[in-house]
Amino acid sequence: MRTSTAAFLEAKKNPLFLLKHYLRDFFLLSIVNYLLYTFHSPFHFHPQLWHGFLFLFSIPTGWIIASFLHNTGHGNIKSLFINNFLGEFCGHFVGYGFTNFILVHTLHHNYSDQQFDPVSPEGMSFLCFALAPTKYMIARTKDYLLFVHGKNKHYKVILNTQTVIFYINLILRLIFWFLLLGPHFFLFFYLPAVASNILILAHINYVCHRDFEDGSVEVFNMDHNLYYKIANFITIGGYYHKSHHLKLNLFDPRNYKGKIDRPLLTINPNPAKIPLVERKVSFGNLRASSRSGSWFLRYFDLDNIWIRPKNVCLKKSTVLCEAQVFMKNTENNNYGERKHI
Ligand SMILES: [Zn+2]
Ligand SMILES: [Zn+2]
Repeated sequence: MRTSTAAFLEAKKNPLFLLKHYLRDFFLLSIVNYLLYTFHSPFHFHPQLWHGFLFLFSIPTGWIIASFLHNTGHGNIKSLFINNFLGEFCGHFVGYGFTNFILVHTLHHNYSDQQFDPVSPEGMSFLCFALAPTKYMIARTKDYLLFVHGKNKHYKVILNTQTVIFYINLILRLIFWFLLLGPHFFLFFYLPAVASNILILAHINYVCHRDFEDGSVEVFNMDHNLYYKIANFITIGGYYHKSHHLKLNLFDPRNYKGKIDRPLLTINPNPAKIPLVERKVSFGNLRASSRSGSWFLRYFDLDNIWIRPKNVCLKKSTVLCEAQVFMKNTENNNYGERKHI
């Protein structure tokens, strides 16, 4: 079994790696689904009142899956076998697979809020960000793969073929869970669990990276109201995203012991003009003075961020800040400890 770092490096090195991987999943899923369809017939649908209670379990399940998918994606469980087994299960549960999570999430850490970050919310409302994750995630991941493997005709054929198989596998995984769980559990437990998983991962990425008027983007820990406290308890510190960026190998980022007070910037538009120590904006200032919108938007920290049109704040291609240099230097070593910038 390979480590999660190795899966990313292999996808970067070998243009056929993902295609082979998706084809393997396609054949396995087809066989298992065929067997389930043949020997297990769950096609009676008689919803009852108690099925509604399944919904209560689905939300924490989706959150726990998010935490384990993330931690196993970083290889944070000591036993490689258990790490990869749990990771494959979580990836199978969410539909897009463990290797795809590793690919997307490693790009997020290596290129946070830059061109190849598949989960940067730049220019998107939260609704758009949460409801169409595959659209921009796949687009930016494809951009990266074209960048490393070349925009030649040969690789474009591979890329298009693997994209089609990726979507087929996504449908096959949904069919698998439908056949295994039956229509009641699928509808009242599985689908809400996946929805809660997508929503919390989108929310973490959306609110823990925040853009500011000066064009900078800063990473935060969030734990200031009851929602975050409950969510951090269930997801084992899922919203301690700044601590996580600073030390990726910590299973529970709440245990981060390093200095946390300096801003952690992923984009600093002009580090020479605005040194970090003189930077005025911060989440604290924003909360105290300029928050607007409904109670709901303020409670979930969805007001005033990521709504500016793309690239208005700065031309990213011409600005290479300290953060980018650091990230480029650590691309092949994304599991190490990251220092403050
Ligand atoms: Zn991570
Ligand atoms: Zn992040």
